Amino acid sequence: MNLLDYTLDELKDLFKKEGIPPYRADQVLKGVYLGHNIHEISNLPISLRELLNKKFEHIIPEVIESLKSKDDTEKFLLKIEDGNIIETALMKYSYGNTICISSQIGCRMGCKFCASCINGLIRNLTPGEMIGEILSVKNYTKEDIKRIVIMGSGEPLDNFSNVLKFLNIINREYSFNISQRNITLSTCGIVPKIYELADENLSINLAISLHAASDEIRIKIMKIACLYKINDIIDAAKYYFNKTKRRITFEYALINSVNDSKEDAYKLSKLLKGINCHVNLIPVNKVTNVNFEKPSRNRIDDFMNILIKERINTTKRRELGEDIDASCGQLKNSYFAKF
Ligand code: SAH
Repeated sequence: MNLLDYTLDELKDLFKKEGIPPYRADQVLKGVYLGHNIHEISNLPISLRELLNKKFEHIIPEVIESLKSKDDTEKFLLKIEDGNIIETALMKYSYGNTICISSQIGCRMGCKFCASCINGLIRNLTPGEMIGEILSVKNYTKEDIKRIVIMGSGEPLDNFSNVLKFLNIINREYSFNISQRNITLSTCGIVPKIYELADENLSINLAISLHAASDEIRIKIMKIACLYKINDIIDAAKYYFNKTKRRITFEYALINSVNDSKEDAYKLSKLLKGINCHVNLIPVNKVTNVNFEKPSRNRIDDFMNILIKERINTTKRRELGEDIDASCGQLKNSYFAKF
């Protein structure tokens, strides 16, 4: 198994069984998370390094393409062990670097505007592969990473146990030591899993891809809307807030003449009134062979101004990396389109 798939406790137990002093597990993981190969971890005896090299794999995805946009967002195509390709992005904000990681190869949620859904789900990523995305980008760029968003390809709550293990590793001192408050998980709204996540007593931020203010419109653009009603999502969001006290973000991709009318803006305000939340408006990114367009600047401003007037905390997402296909799954698709 990949070393990056182990928690410290798991590795200690395994070392005990192998007759290796358990405190070595701490040294191994610290070294690996600093970006070293096993043979470079100098506080381990050479004989142990050799033994570990024989017994364990230490696999970090390989950067096969990197693209920098005008706004300094950098997108990476990473090749994982089985030859599959995943996408990861590094976004530079004034408050520090944020990495956007993928949680699955492909996605089976079927959102109509999303490039990751076009070919369905290939497979879940393991915790070690998600950690590998971060290590690979850190090694490649030598940049420090302050925040993690699980907003790349895939639906994290459809890969629940692996994502949970990943979350329980990355905030540890031996690992990246990133506070859970600096981690955001984005979901298309798998309601029972939102309750389960809330009951894990983590303090990560939750972003919910709402993208519509009525079930009729949501069903037209998101397959998951056939399973869960917006009102049930709102109840789950309130439960999450009450449990974690973390403010919820609602993502809303504005699509011209689909979900961007003034009436939609008023409906959305009514829906979210009184909830401790924040709306992130994202003018939809054009995806090849998909007919959705972003609204005009005026329509976007009108929509946003209604929400603000109705006292809903709202921001428009900087359209980071649009020139490099930075939206979920787009870069990978354009990479394969070249062949
Ligand atoms: N499955 C998760 C996370 C992955 S997508 C989710 O649905 O939240 C991350 C965000 O990008 C989601 O809000 C998703 O709806 C949005 N997104 C996907 N394709 C997009 C596009 N073409 N334009 C704008 N936003 C997009």
